[in-house]
Amino acid sequence: MLVDSHCHINFDPLSEDTEGVIQRAHEMGVDHMLCVSVNMEDFPQVLALAKEHDFIFASVGVHPNHDEGEEPTVEMLISHAAGPDVVAIGETGLDYFRSSGDMTWQKDRFARHIHAGIESDKPLIIHTREAAADTMDMLKAENAEQCGGVMHCFAEDWVTAKKALDIGFYISFSGILTFKNAQDMREVAKKVPLDLVLVETDSPYLAPVPKRGKINEPAYTSYVADVLADVKGVSKEEISRLTTNNFFNLFKAAKRREAA
Ligand SMILES: [Zn+2]
Repeated sequence: MLVDSHCHINFDPLSEDTEGVIQRAHEMGVDHMLCVSVNMEDFPQVLALAKEHDFIFASVGVHPNHDEGEEPTVEMLISHAAGPDVVAIGETGLDYFRSSGDMTWQKDRFARHIHAGIESDKPLIIHTREAAADTMDMLKAENAEQCGGVMHCFAEDWVTAKKALDIGFYISFSGILTFKNAQDMREVAKKVPLDLVLVETDSPYLAPVPKRGKINEPAYTSYVADVLADVKGVSKEEISRLTTNNFFNLFKAAKRREAA
């Protein structure tokens, strides 16, 4: 019993072997997955995956670094989020690593996503890179605690984690948690309450140890859970049960599969 709370199985090369990706995930106990949207152009594919499989959920949003293509309005996000298969808004946030210069456009886009989250009562999936202070300031200023959300692929310090937890946000750990040099991240994970923690792959990127350097896929959520269980001093079964419950508590529109 595990949920990959953040994957991109519509990206190459995972999209070339959807059924294999799903089968291997199920073999590793990953029963559910959230396929996260990064732009409006690919959203129909993400939605189709969710419509075809009752254990795949979709989000709608435009990644902070996506600088071409359709700019989403609040109304557009809300209308796409209204269907039963779309359980979250995102991924959204701020990224000063891959974009630079005047960041007003990124902040405007981020604010629109937060408003859509609040209006549609769907939680936010937050991406932040080299922009932690601004990201947390905006979540607070725009009242994001009203819809809640998750700090995905968490790679920030405890101060940032604490700010997120204080507004009721969840923290999701990816394969980074398993990296040899990620002792700091494991220290942060140790402090995150067990009822606010999630696991993810962010596949096809960031494969965890022992698959580091390979193409990541949802099955490998299991390796992230191994390390998180170890860090928390609980069994794999317990961390699987807890992170699964946490996922369905946060993403209320996601329906748990009967068999899972
Ligand atoms: Zn992502």
